[in-house]
Amino acid sequence: MDFDYGIVGGGPAGYTAAIMLAQQGKTVILFEKDKLGGTCLNKGCIPTKSLLHASEFFKSLTTQNPYGLNIEIKDFDFTSVLQKKETTVEKIRKSLELAVKNAGVNIIYSEAKIIDKNTITANNNTYNVDTVICATGSRPKEIKGLEFDHKFILSSDDVLELKNLPQKVLIIGSGAIGIEWTRIFSNFGCEVHISEIADHLIPIADIEVSKRIERIFKQNKIKFYLKDSVEKIENKTVTIKSGQTITPDIILVAAGRTPLTANLDCKIIGDASNEIQLAHYAIHQAKKLSTNIDFDKSLIPSVIYGSPEIAWVGLREQDCDETYNKVLLPITALGKAWCDDATEGFIKIIEKDRMIKGAHIVSKEASSLIQQIVIAMQNNITIDKLKEVCFAHPTYSEGIFEAICRI
Ligand SMILES: Cc1cc2nc3c(=O)[nH]c(=O)nc-3n(C[C@H](O)[C@H](O)[C@H](O)COP(=O)(O)OP(=O)(O)OC[C@H]3O[C@@H](n4cnc5c(N)ncnc54)[C@H](O)[C@@H]3O)c2cc1C
Repeated sequence: MDFDYGIVGGGPAGYTAAIMLAQQGKTVILFEKDKLGGTCLNKGCIPTKSLLHASEFFKSLTTQNPYGLNIEIKDFDFTSVLQKKETTVEKIRKSLELAVKNAGVNIIYSEAKIIDKNTITANNNTYNVDTVICATGSRPKEIKGLEFDHKFILSSDDVLELKNLPQKVLIIGSGAIGIEWTRIFSNFGCEVHISEIADHLIPIADIEVSKRIERIFKQNKIKFYLKDSVEKIENKTVTIKSGQTITPDIILVAAGRTPLTANLDCKIIGDASNEIQLAHYAIHQAKKLSTNIDFDKSLIPSVIYGSPEIAWVGLREQDCDETYNKVLLPITALGKAWCDDATEGFIKIIEKDRMIKGAHIVSKEASSLIQQIVIAMQNNITIDKLKEVCFAHPTYSEGIFEAICRI
């Protein structure tokens, strides 16, 4: 055999597996047809968070502040925002390339084909490997009648290529991608409409989280249409089933992602496995494959970024019967939130038998707060044991303490 492992796809799943296996002394060859880092680094997690941050900065300067600052914005160059995003992505990619190289992984930048469980071809060469790993990721899902034309009807890849901000946007779907783009566009002052086929925004979230986000979106003049979908499009005029017509500059279809699977007898990890399509899940699958240490799928946290952040883990209210207890601490209970002018949101804990079974957080720093809950849940730390922990003041973490004290 030429190599112990042949890995197709250099996204979080592929590069994590490659680095970890090489660090264990295995010989690894990694194939990437585009850029190292995959969707996450080049078209997903990182560029969107960079734009989100820029949009929040923009909003903070263009809306009223309580600090007596009188700022006059003379010019705004969206190109600089795009450049900053590119620089960020490139910096991270360079570090990643170095980490992969330093681990001793061989990289081939070419499209690869998995022939069988021991053979990969790329660039007219054949590679014999002990184990093939398919980490080919996923692509934006198309909806019938809303096929991407990459000009008016855009995918999450296309929208990153926009050189100018649109004035009016219609977003199809309110999962993480739809919500984050809603926030980016809305912060930059664009008019945003969302069409969601389910009863509530973020249908995968706890019902109270969905309702709170709906309330916040209404306050921010973001229009959303629930249990709705596009009926027809004529000359860029969109009619949705409820009868409303919208004339957006662009439509962003954010209705999930289709796995790119080789459908062969090989190990499949990451988005291609069609399980949970999140970068940290992909990384965790790669860690499991390289170390054989199992993990609990029910403890994978979910995060939606922007202000306020949204994060959850475990059971949702709609999953539980009356034998579960729930407590909800409003973020207004926290001194730090008042100092930060970030009092919107709550920490909700679902409990049974003195154990946390689920947590749903809408708050600044929710992405970090949820990790504390994951650690408690994964290590079977009881509510009473958690109460013994000293939480620093003033912090958002105190909210976890305050919430569990109410159980
Ligand atoms: C807009 C957006 C925002 C997101 N935000 C987040 C977030 O905040 N947090 C989060 O956890 N997740 C987020 N995700 C999801 C995350 O990007 C994916 O879950 C993650 O990238 C999956 O990793 P992967 O390695 O399985 O696949 P990918 O990252 O898709 O990598 C697969 C790689 O395989 C390569 N490839 C495919 N076929 C071949 C072939 N035949 N030969 C060679 N190379 C091949 C591709 O070029 C690609 O580089 C986001 C996704 C999008 C689209």
